Amino acid sequence: MGFKAGYITILGSPNAGKSTLMNRLLDFKLSIISPKPQTTRKNILGILNRDGIQIIFTDTPGMLTPRYLLQEKMVKAIQRAIKDADALTLVLDGTQISKKDELPVKDQINMILNNTVEKKDIVVVINKIDLVDKQKLLPIIGSLSKIYHFHSIIPVSARTGDGVIRFLDVLKELIPEHPPYYDTEIITEHPERFLAAELIREQIFLQFQQEIPYGAEVQIESFYEREKGKDYIQAVIFVERSSHKGILIGEGGAALKKIGKNARMEIEKTLSRKIYLDLHVKVSEKWRKNEHQMNKFGY
Ligand code: GDP
Ligand code: MG
Repeated sequence: MGFKAGYITILGSPNAGKSTLMNRLLDFKLSIISPKPQTTRKNILGILNRDGIQIIFTDTPGMLTPRYLLQEKMVKAIQRAIKDADALTLVLDGTQISKKDELPVKDQINMILNNTVEKKDIVVVINKIDLVDKQKLLPIIGSLSKIYHFHSIIPVSARTGDGVIRFLDVLKELIPEHPPYYDTEIITEHPERFLAAELIREQIFLQFQQEIPYGAEVQIESFYEREKGKDYIQAVIFVERSSHKGILIGEGGAALKKIGKNARMEIEKTLSRKIYLDLHVKVSEKWRKNEHQMNKFGY
């Protein structure tokens, strides 16, 4: 049999554990994760290379009804990822599924079907089973299989890794014969500056509440190697209001310092080398509703 290669798109509600699952599959922290919904804003491509097979995962923003321009862009990204896929994975939060939740799952299926011309296999992942009573799984699988003819329904814990190998084995069946799309040595094509910006954004999601993380965007202004010493990264955090700027900086700069320290450690882990991180905060009024500003931010 020839080489197999293909695209698997990871879909689901905000916070279902899509990014955690992709990272677990890749055994690498590529996508940022936080307990808050809508942490992921752009499609993140992760490449899994094994003997004779290349699976390209697309981690997407959570499916939602858009309320502002940024969210419309997030939905467009999801639609593109659906079109590009060889097969789809729908991640459900196992702690949230009950009889009452059948409708949202139906809505998600409809959104998927509305964006596919050819029929694509859908593998359902019931995630977070480390938190679910095992006896509840069978009835959940039973009611899900009545909603749609899924390729398969697989309980996993992206956090512990439980069930993930089985999931991967199922995906392998869905990948067609095709030469590799990417160099089989790489895990992603996202540039280091993108990964660094994401890891800074992750700290903002982890450390701040309410609107602040949603109104924050990170841009890398410069990133270069220095002959002597660590690589130098200068980044700007854009916020929507000057009050947010004050909160991000904190008393005597303490909050910004903490973002910088944690982000630096995460970036060093991801890039496997030491860096120097220079962080600034600027205000960009209502950028989430401003097409021009969002284009500049790469949406
Ligand atoms: P996404 O929005 O779908 O990408 O979800 P994330 O991957 O960012 O995860 C959302 C939250 O759920 C984070 O706090 C994760 O740590 C948590 N989470 C993800 N997978 C699991 C799991 O299998 N078990 C548990 N207990 N938590 C999980
Ligand atoms: Mg995510």
